[in-house]
Amino acid sequence: MRRRKIKPATVRMINENFALILDCECKQYDDLIAALKKQEALKPEEYKDANDEIDHRCPECGSFAILAYCAQCGQKIDWSDIN
Ligand SMILES: [Zn+2]
Repeated sequence: MRRRKIKPATVRMINENFALILDCECKQYDDLIAALKKQEALKPEEYKDANDEIDHRCPECGSFAILAYCAQCGQKIDWSDIN
């Protein structure tokens, strides 16, 4: 499974250089923000299949290949309320 994960040290680095990053009007900035947003865990979306079985999918891209992270887009998934 491919996952994009930001290490805590990287997050610290981003925080420390935030003023600099705000100045940066480049593609990397968008990528960086998108990557950071995916580190905020989102609850999986419930989906009923044709047999009325409840499945879960990524709230961002709709992929069913989700564990702790979505295999498709890297979104972090919050399973805390799901039994
Ligand atoms: Zn996804």
